[in-house]
Amino acid sequence: MIRANDPKIKSWVNIPENSDFPIQNLPFGVFKTKDKSPRLCTAIGDQVADLAVLAEDGFFDDLDIDKSVFSQPYLNDFMALGKTKTGAVRNRLSEILDDDLEEWDAKELADFFLHPQKEVEMLLPVKVGDYTDFYSSIEHATNVGIMFRDPENALLPNWRHLPVGYHGRASSIVVSGTPIHRPKGQTIPQGADQPVFGPSRLLDFELEMGFVIGKSTDLGQSVSTDEAEDYIFGMVLFNDWSARDIQKWEYVPLGPFLGKSFASTISPWVVSLEAMEPFRSPGPTQKPEVLPYLQYSGKKNYDINLEVDILTGKGTQKTITQSNFKYMYWNMAQQLAHHTVNGCNLNVGDMCASGTISGPTPDSYGSMLEISWRGSKPFAISEDEERKFIEDGDTVILRGWCEKDGTRIGFGECKGEILPVK
Ligand code: MN
Repeated sequence: MIRANDPKIKSWVNIPENSDFPIQNLPFGVFKTKDKSPRLCTAIGDQVADLAVLAEDGFFDDLDIDKSVFSQPYLNDFMALGKTKTGAVRNRLSEILDDDLEEWDAKELADFFLHPQKEVEMLLPVKVGDYTDFYSSIEHATNVGIMFRDPENALLPNWRHLPVGYHGRASSIVVSGTPIHRPKGQTIPQGADQPVFGPSRLLDFELEMGFVIGKSTDLGQSVSTDEAEDYIFGMVLFNDWSARDIQKWEYVPLGPFLGKSFASTISPWVVSLEAMEPFRSPGPTQKPEVLPYLQYSGKKNYDINLEVDILTGKGTQKTITQSNFKYMYWNMAQQLAHHTVNGCNLNVGDMCASGTISGPTPDSYGSMLEISWRGSKPFAISEDEERKFIEDGDTVILRGWCEKDGTRIGFGECKGEILPVK
């Protein structure tokens, strides 16, 4: 077992009940305060631990790591060290924060390296080079196919043979808490033959998870499903904001463009694949059998509970859907094998998102498009508020966590408020 995953370890830092950040998680992020420049951190309970201070105080000296990686404004250089070293740092953090190990005497330094999470500013953790969005939930693809194409043939012929994806926009990926202005663009009113210009009226979220690339490849190199996890540093919550009316008019024949590229929101914490090891889950049976380069062995899915809240401008908050990452038809290893099979290279910091994660029932759908069934079934937020799509002043909050045998690790929150059109 990976040391840091040992469920028996307790921290000397107080961990509130149901915290996303027990000592078995130790995700990585980047924070700043008014006195501290951006630097790497981990989360423990309600605190962040400053890795730059720990590095300066010699806690990682025997790990043969250039200390400057901990004082960077992004995780990229740290991730590029490779999993042997980043895993060693995570294990060392587990030792430093372990209540039973006193040899690190970190407790005396707590005032210097621990800060309450509510007193720090969490920053975008990764400098994202390229961003790819997949479309890998069979429930979501089926729902969309029924609504927009053909209820009898909801899935297009390629869907069960390859993980469909498109190249998204990296520049507009923002960290949780960043407000988003309602996008404007071209749409075509129902029954009209000419488009109009204006604010999107069908603004939506997409409940997704993203994975971050921690190891690059050369042009021409392909990554097999067996090798894929070595290239994946960790995961984040991912809200792929979508303007359905813009998307519907523009997407033929080359796919999503401005209906998606105005913003995507990620959680500030990158949970390492190592931390998620205990929560592996078998994937669904794939029929027909996939081509050899997409075949895989072992459990390549993960059991991650997901939920989405809407907090309205009036202050009402309601959980509107609960899904799970384990429903994904195509797993991350298959997505990465497919992504690189043509020789397309990966860079450290690249981001891949899963596609909307819908479960089998309406209370597990991963977008308002599906929950309100294209706006035909408004749903109640409170006695006097209902929604079909997102309204100005609404905040969308994604949460995710894994839970097994009494251990729970989470991803924190991924939230964003929609402001009126700019
Ligand atoms: Mn998407």
